[in-house]
Amino acid sequence: MITTLTVTLLLLTAQPPVTPYPTGDALTKQAYHLASAKSVPTPKVTVDTTVAPDLAEWGKHAGELMEQWYPVVWNLLGTQDAKPMSAIKVTFQLKQDAPAYATGGGIFVSVPWVRAHPDDFGMMIHEMTHLVQAYPGSRNTPGWLVEGIADYIRWWRYEPEAPRPKITEKNKYTDAYRVTAYFLAYLTHKYDHGLVQKLDKAMKTRAYSDSLFETSTGKKLDDLWAEFVAYQTR
Ligand SMILES: [Zn+2]
Repeated sequence: MITTLTVTLLLLTAQPPVTPYPTGDALTKQAYHLASAKSVPTPKVTVDTTVAPDLAEWGKHAGELMEQWYPVVWNLLGTQDAKPMSAIKVTFQLKQDAPAYATGGGIFVSVPWVRAHPDDFGMMIHEMTHLVQAYPGSRNTPGWLVEGIADYIRWWRYEPEAPRPKITEKNKYTDAYRVTAYFLAYLTHKYDHGLVQKLDKAMKTRAYSDSLFETSTGKKLDDLWAEFVAYQTR
């Protein structure tokens, strides 16, 4: 772990930044008023690594990390009227398609994935964010934004030192995951520090529409995307 981290840091310092936002840039240092955030009861995280005893330590660390970060994620999203979970169960499985996925009360983790990617604790933050999102089913809730918010929390709040994805004209805000996450970070920084909370809160009540972006920033979603791409590729 330490060796890999050191190598990553060396690579980061040895190479030119992959985007206009290198480590330590303005977007990385977005200010959030977490000091004034309300305290949230931490759910008890239990981790079942029965099928892979070699991952017991990894699982223990993941559980501790989730207990640490649950209240942070809670305060970064639009949870004012929501109820925090009292318990989260993490279950390791020998066979599953996704590296990890979240369902109502828990997270399922792929044993082969973790063995091959022992640094990937960030995926647990992504999946835990889905538990905090907990959107009711709705045609108004776009999948790209659900995944974009989960990756925003992961890549911009949990591990903001990670290299940024390269955005080109071929991308679209609906690409989800890291592309949408980057877009959200840009908008949050430039227009509205409460944007992600507002989007999350709307989806919690089946009330999301693209016009929320305009309400929050004064500009239409497509225009905001064009502006972001131009900023990236200038
Ligand atoms: Zn996801």
